[in-house]
Amino acid sequence: MKQAVLAALLAAGLAASAAGAQTVKITPLGSHDGEFCAADRALVFEDPDGTRILYDAGRTVRGADDPRLGRIDAVLLSHVHVDHLGDLIQPSANAGECGKPDLSVKATPNSNTVNIAADKKATLIVGGEMPSFFQVKMKAAGGDPKQVRLLRFGAHTRVGKVGVVSVPAVHANGLPTAFLENAEMLAANGLTAYVGPPGGYVLQFSNGLVAYLSGDTGITAEQDLVVRRYYKANLAVMNIGDNFTTGPREAAHVMNVLVRPASVIASHANEPATKGGKLLPNTKTATFKKLTKMPVHIPLSGRTMEFAGGGKCVKGC
Ligand SMILES: [Zn+2]
Repeated sequence: MKQAVLAALLAAGLAASAAGAQTVKITPLGSHDGEFCAADRALVFEDPDGTRILYDAGRTVRGADDPRLGRIDAVLLSHVHVDHLGDLIQPSANAGECGKPDLSVKATPNSNTVNIAADKKATLIVGGEMPSFFQVKMKAAGGDPKQVRLLRFGAHTRVGKVGVVSVPAVHANGLPTAFLENAEMLAANGLTAYVGPPGGYVLQFSNGLVAYLSGDTGITAEQDLVVRRYYKANLAVMNIGDNFTTGPREAAHVMNVLVRPASVIASHANEPATKGGKLLPNTKTATFKKLTKMPVHIPLSGRTMEFAGGGKCVKGC
């Protein structure tokens, strides 16, 4: 009898440590191997259950054939600006400079994001007024309009075991005419098309990790009220590029005071932030890292980072 109890306790202990050892793998898909470069935004998240989610493919994922993608179950798009939706892509790995990658391959009018989602038969999750637009694009790219899933602020959906939530981003979301047919009138007037507000996401992984993906945003009260207090994000992917979004100082405030995650991945720096994989001084990324109280991890292209359920990086950082 005693032995049976002991065996049961042992088994329970082993099961608990196996769950605790489960990690979410996050792999940046940038323009230059092993570096954090100006155009880099794209990340692939892999849940312990095997679900793979691509966030903001942008210009550095080299089309649906990019061997770094593997299987993709869902594609997330924060907003439709060219550097996120993907109007142009790199012809080959490491083409051009880290500060100015060679983006000579056109992905318009369908976009890099839609081409990838269509080819991978992945669910494209978007908010605002974007679904109807992307249904048309999905069909044009050879996909099924049913692949497009609506997710507006406050709502929750699921991909495999991963919960996906839409949160606000304070930014713009005009659709550039390069992605439109017969848009000469808009182009002649310097206007973009209305597709509703931009957004960010919260991903709830099966090991307990809760990741906030800021999208392009300024400082907003929802980072405190919604992202921290309600969803309790313990990892943040924070855009720091300035001009278009929070700069490094504002982004550090958002981390230290509003979101307060266990760790942070810098994103969208719009600069060559590293050389030989080492963070360069006098960069926005270095300023952000210095001012942020929690560990800031640099998304080096192709290097997989692994995060435990509590938000700490346990491998590859
Ligand atoms: Zn952007």
